[in-house]
Amino acid sequence: TAPLIEAQSLRMEYRVGRGQVLRALDGVSLAVRPGEVLGLVGESGCGKSTLGRCLLRLARPTAGRVVFDGTDITALPERTLRPLRQGMQMVFQDSYASLNPRRRIGDLIAEPLRVHRDGQGRRRTAADIAARLAELMDLVGLPQAALARYPHEFSGGQRQRINIARALALSPRLVVADEPVSALDVSIQAQIVNLFMDLRDRLGLTYVFVAHDLAVVRQISTRVAVMYLGAIVELGDADTVLHRPAHPYTAALIAAVPEPVVLPDGDRAPPLRGDVPSPIAPPPGCRFHTRCPSAQDRCRTDPPALRDPGDGRQVACHFPLTGG
Ligand code: SF4
Ligand code: MG
Repeated sequence: TAPLIEAQSLRMEYRVGRGQVLRALDGVSLAVRPGEVLGLVGESGCGKSTLGRCLLRLARPTAGRVVFDGTDITALPERTLRPLRQGMQMVFQDSYASLNPRRRIGDLIAEPLRVHRDGQGRRRTAADIAARLAELMDLVGLPQAALARYPHEFSGGQRQRINIARALALSPRLVVADEPVSALDVSIQAQIVNLFMDLRDRLGLTYVFVAHDLAVVRQISTRVAVMYLGAIVELGDADTVLHRPAHPYTAALIAAVPEPVVLPDGDRAPPLRGDVPSPIAPPPGCRFHTRCPSAQDRCRTDPPALRDPGDGRQVACHFPLTGG
């Protein structure tokens, strides 16, 4: 099947001072097929949110292409993009910031239904909108009475259900969720992740799920992309990447969670030392070499390209830990 969303050699650069350039994305390519859940992981500042925003054309990349459902949307004017926007929605981390506190939940969720026309190009009637609001409340597990209330009357988890209802109002095919459970209590996180999984099954959704918490990513993802300093360093099936990591950075991320991975040689990956280097002046060669326990001389000068070590995934490392 053809990808629903595809990034081709995306670059995103910001001028940050005299002649200095911050490269938030440095040649990112990936494709997500219908029904997949791509978990996008990496430490903060690695470019995951920027990539998510570029995929939905909420940000415009400096170079490269974004193709949604066969259409190159990279440079489409806003008017042409508008009907396509219905098919792609975002859920953000901060459940409160995205909801106008002075408007009722029903108004907030109805807004996209009022702005966009229906499948036949008609404006929706008040009755259409009321019926859709009722459906959406059922879908996200909120009582109908919530529609008449205000955002501050809800908990963080409930507000995230409201944001999800709003994102689903126009029946999108793709949802990009940027750390949608990171701000919630752990017990609530599981409920919202379960809701995402349930909605995917019921509605046939495709997700790009941005997270720094590997436990969450493991629960929901069918594929995983690991990012470091603006680039993908490992990409493949969630089981393969998360249980038999090939990139030392992936292994280090996994080692930092409570149930660390056991590497093929029986050792545990050592914990990650040091901070992420500045994306304004990333290290030469392999950008991970300043923190990599497996680094060799070659890694300091020769940047590794993404390649398949023989088991269908892609890894950017001269000395992958496993594969084939
Ligand atoms: Fe580590 Fe070298 Fe692989 Fe980079 S290329 S991840 S420095 S072993
Ligand atoms: Mg972010």
